[in-house]
Amino acid sequence: MPSVAATYYDGLTAKRHAVEVSLHPDGLAIFSAEGRLVSSWPYQSIRRIEGHAGAGLAVTLLPQPGSTAEPLLEIPDMAFAADLAGRAPLTLTKGLRERRERRAVVFWAIAAIISLLGLAFYGLPAIAGRLAPLVPAAAEIRLGAAMDPEIRKTFGGDNGIRTCIGAEGQQALANLVGRFEEAAGLHVPLKVVVLNHRLVNAFALPGGYVYMFNGLLQKARSPDEFAGVLAHEIGHVKLRHGLRSVIQAGGLGFLLGTVFGDFAGGTAIILASRSLMQSAFSRDSERQADHFAVDLMLKAGGDPLGLARFFINAGVADPGGLSWIASHPANAEREQAIRDALTGAAASRPALTPEQWTALRAICQKTD
Ligand SMILES: [Zn+2]
Repeated sequence: MPSVAATYYDGLTAKRHAVEVSLHPDGLAIFSAEGRLVSSWPYQSIRRIEGHAGAGLAVTLLPQPGSTAEPLLEIPDMAFAADLAGRAPLTLTKGLRERRERRAVVFWAIAAIISLLGLAFYGLPAIAGRLAPLVPAAAEIRLGAAMDPEIRKTFGGDNGIRTCIGAEGQQALANLVGRFEEAAGLHVPLKVVVLNHRLVNAFALPGGYVYMFNGLLQKARSPDEFAGVLAHEIGHVKLRHGLRSVIQAGGLGFLLGTVFGDFAGGTAIILASRSLMQSAFSRDSERQADHFAVDLMLKAGGDPLGLARFFINAGVADPGGLSWIASHPANAEREQAIRDALTGAAASRPALTPEQWTALRAICQKTD
């Protein structure tokens, strides 16, 4: 992983330092402009600062023995921030979190009342659609972060599922994700990982969490097929389909559970995670995500027909269900819509070079 520019405050003085940061196996390293190591932060002690003004990710280091300094690091590079988010727990810092929680309680109490009233008039799916855009991005990220361990447990048992971390593969993935992220203009940073599981599957949680299974990576016959599925999942992130589906499936129980603090590891989260994995999005949502994927690939690289080709290539669903094709049935209409959207569009550059594709396919040779 190459280094990127960032801004560092040591927490003792108000002086602003232009620094370079890079990711290493055991932590984040901060270098001065002259290349001197300023500080090194272990991943498990890094926390996200929510509500920080300015672009990109703002993080701090948990208090260290013998120090009261509260250092601050601002990272404008979104691809780097996403990579960091995949390695560090990045939960909110305590003081900020309490303030946010109080605000969230008020928000959800109001949301619960509105949904009670609205339910009588419109029914649940319509309410979920109206409510989702009102949820603050930070709350959506928290929801995704709480669901992430449930998803990993479902596929990997109590020890969780392994994340693939082959260095060159990660580099190729970060390159692709970085380009897509820049072109997509998302409300949350992406956290895309390849999970070491043989199932041909991929899905997106609320808050920018996208899981690409190794089974799907191996099934894809070209980088454009893989990138097409990834772009489609990013479409679900952009359009907040996961959040909508969670609100819809959890309904009032979920809203009330959240209001009363039953959040991380709580029943509401376990149920929400299960329902998201087991139920498919509506056909409308799928069509929108396909459309978004075509636009995204035309902007950021890759042949959008790769997505259509993947439907055919992976058309025979896995026996155990839970496959991408099981929740995304290939049909002629869907494929035709992609071809129609492409009429007249200029061919763009390939999603990945052959070298990057080879490296990405080998990403699971090393796991965490
Ligand atoms: Zn989908």
